[in-house]
Formats: sequence, structure tokens, C-alpha cells
Amino acid sequence: MDLSYTTSAGSRLAVLNVGQFPMDVSALFPDAPEDQLDEALTRHHYKRTEPIFFQVNTLYVRMGSHHVLVDPNAGLDTNVREPGPLLDRLGELGIEPADIDTVVVTHFHPDHYTGCVDADCRPLFPEATCYVQRSEWENWENPDHPEADFAAAFRQLVRSIRDRFVLLDGDQPIIDGVEAIGTPGHSAGHMSVLIDDEVLVVGDALINMIHLEHPEWLAVFEQGLDHVFESRRKLLELIIEHDLLVYGSHYPWPGLGRVEKLGTCYGWVPETA
Ligand SMILES: [Zn+2]
Repeated sequence: MDLSYTTSAGSRLAVLNVGQFPMDVSALFPDAPEDQLDEALTRHHYKRTEPIFFQVNTLYVRMGSHHVLVDPNAGLDTNVREPGPLLDRLGELGIEPADIDTVVVTHFHPDHYTGCVDADCRPLFPEATCYVQRSEWENWENPDHPEADFAAAFRQLVRSIRDRFVLLDGDQPIIDGVEAIGTPGHSAGHMSVLIDDEVLVVGDALINMIHLEHPEWLAVFEQGLDHVFESRRKLLELIIEHDLLVYGSHYPWPGLGRVEKLGTCYGWVPETA
């Protein structure tokens, strides 16, 4: 198997790419001071005038007898779900859908969970138990949710498989070696995921690696939301205190790296193979 990383406990991680989409720099860093933004963009080989392409990745983890997926994605169009690329990537690793026993969903935005179901809204991974925060599930039940399209997708895609989901409350173990870290903000019940006390899946709480370096810069879609800053602070403290490997699902391939002291500031250093 061509896997991206092996933890010291022996869990093997593979980052499965299923697509990408463009994001305007102005939407990601609307309030950033121009000189600081230019410096950060240049260092990460971005240009202010060109969109940043977000990877859409699913993380696969083999740990002991468990086969775990974090944020299974079957395309961004919730009406035309295409699990083919995700199943193809798993197939390349020799993994069948029925092998997956654990699915962890950081939040119910379409780029993070559409692969929970097939085109007929049946579970794509028939043997899997799915995990999400209770506050996330309950928030999307709001009939007047401001993100109306996303709420409609939630109702269409996962309400009918509610019995497949275990709802979590904040920080708690999911299975041996996999721990939920409550990081609300980007969505009401967004969570991050800690693997073997060594790899931290930050989900969209730190949506681009420049937010690791400038946690005070909010994206347009995070303005006015509660808990964004405290969740970012919580993640950064964990990362630095325990020297965790970070995985960001939208970061440049494969999205793994570390936060290291660069001069007087912390900076993102991608993990190279
Ligand atoms: Zn996302």
C-alpha cells in the first residue's frame, strides 16, 4: 500500500484525493493587512490575483483491525453524488466499502460528508458506524438554518441514516487511538480528530495553513460566528505543546505538515515524503 504516513503506534494513514475547487484569496483573508498578506502568500507560492485551489481529500487510517475514514467525500454537488473517485482510491489500497467500520465527520458541509451515502441515499459503507458532534447534528435540524442549501442537503442525505450515527459531546474517545476534539466555530458543532496522540485533523477550523500562522484572520464565511478564535487557539496550543503532525483536508497535497518556530513567529512546514 502506498500510504502517506505511519504513526509510532503503527497506524497507517493515506490521504485520498477526490477533487479540488477554487477559493478567492479575498474570501479567505478579507481583513488581512496587505503587506503581511503578501508576505504569507508569497511564502506559500500563492498569488493574490489567482484563486487558491482547495484539495478535497478524505483521510483513510488503518489502525489494528479498524479501517477508519475521516470526511468521506463523494463530490460537492449534493444532487449528483459521485462516490466513484473515493471508491477508486480505496480500491487502489485494496479496501472494499464493507471493510470500513468507522466514519468520522468533522462537520456537515458538503465537501466533508457526501460519501456517507450512495446515489440512492443508502449507506455507502454498509458496516460503518458514523460519528459526529451532537451539536452539529442538532444545528442542521434547524428549519430556519441560514445556510439553507446545506441544511436541505443534510436533510436529504443523512437524516434517513440517523441510526448509523453516534453523536458525541465535545472531547471524547471514538475508538481506541481516535479522539474527538470539539472545535466549534466554522460550523456550530465542528470537531477536529486526534489520531494516536500524534496526528491532528484540523478539519476546517484552520481552513488554510496561513490561518495556522495568522489565527486572527477570519475568512468571509467565518465572520461573526461564535467560538472561531477559541477553537483555533485550542488547536494551536495542542499542536505546539505536543508537536503534533497536522492534517488539513484542503491544504496542498497531501496536506500533512508541522507548525514550527520560524524566527519569532510560527510557520507551516509541509511534511515531505
Ligand atoms: Zn471544507
